[in-house]
Amino acid sequence: MNIPWKQAEKLVQELAWRDYWQNIWIDKGEEINQDLRNKQFPVSSKEIPDAIVHAQTGIDAVDSAIEKLYDTGYMHNHMRMYVASICCNLAQCHWLTPAKWLYSHLLDGDVGSNQLSWQWVCGSNSNKKYYANQSNINRYFNSSQKKTFLDVSYEVLSSMEVPEVLRKTIKPQFDENLPNNSTSNLEKGRATVIYNYYNLDPFWHRNESVQRVFLIEPSVFAKYPISKKCMDFALQLGSNIPELNVYVGEFDALQNELQTKEIVFKEHPLNRHYNGQEEPRKWLTNTSGYHRSFFAFWKKCKKELEW
Ligand SMILES: Cc1cc2nc3c(=O)[nH]c(=O)nc-3n(C[C@H](O)[C@H](O)[C@H](O)COP(=O)(O)OP(=O)(O)OC[C@H]3O[C@@H](n4cnc5c(N)ncnc54)[C@H](O)[C@@H]3O)c2cc1C
Repeated sequence: MNIPWKQAEKLVQELAWRDYWQNIWIDKGEEINQDLRNKQFPVSSKEIPDAIVHAQTGIDAVDSAIEKLYDTGYMHNHMRMYVASICCNLAQCHWLTPAKWLYSHLLDGDVGSNQLSWQWVCGSNSNKKYYANQSNINRYFNSSQKKTFLDVSYEVLSSMEVPEVLRKTIKPQFDENLPNNSTSNLEKGRATVIYNYYNLDPFWHRNESVQRVFLIEPSVFAKYPISKKCMDFALQLGSNIPELNVYVGEFDALQNELQTKEIVFKEHPLNRHYNGQEEPRKWLTNTSGYHRSFFAFWKKCKKELEW
């Protein structure tokens, strides 16, 4: 390896965050959709601030990042933390609805990373709540805004009443956005590999003579809805996979149609009801299982990774 470990460590550590959250998701399963370690407190709404959804918080960097999210499907990590902190710690909204809203717009949406990061910010999966004031936002987003509701000290921020602009909350609208080009030409009895929203890897089982199905289960998207932009992005990624059949329906219905036991899929918390041959995902290290803190997990990973 040409790059010294010390120079590469920070990036490798970023990548380890993904494995960290995935391991918690595997271990805790559905529990990641509830307050994991502590009850979020105080909570005065199970909705989301209207000003967040409509990008009208009055914090310029935040509002333009939300507009950019709608436009591009991306938001920087710091900004995700600011938005989560404004929703949960200042507006006192329970994290679940705002988390669902953010996930639905992210092209890199991942239920594990998303739910657990929201819980980290609001203190339900960490020891303290995360706050950022205006000067922190100005520093990282190259702005110089003053006199906003965030332009106060951390002491004031962590004990203030819900700012006026955040008081109106709404239930965001989530549409189905399922594609309508579901295939009806599957070959019965043929070995089939299953792709889904979390696995569209064009190198997986490449050059093998198998039937390829992109399974879009309505039940998964009813629970974790995504925008049309995200669905279109996934379908576009699918076009890198030759002869991929898009199938909109549940796994059981697909299995009935296929009439084969030769069904291959990758391990994932959302695939636990699949039947067939499960293949492992690729991980950075052999470190697995639940760890209370990222640094406890990272310490073990580092031992395996350091060069
Ligand atoms: C409230 C909130 C919600 C989030 N929702 C998601 C989500 O739905 N999907 C998602 O993948 N990440 C999520 N993250 C984590 C993180 O924000 C993104 O992974 C990161 O912003 C992706 O941008 P990047 O590719 O430029 O990352 P870089 O900073 O360039 O990092 C490189 C890669 O490392 C991994 N990574 C880095 N930081 C994290 C992290 N904290 N958690 C998990 N993986 C990480 C990602 O694979 C990322 O692409 C969320 C974070 C917060 C605070």
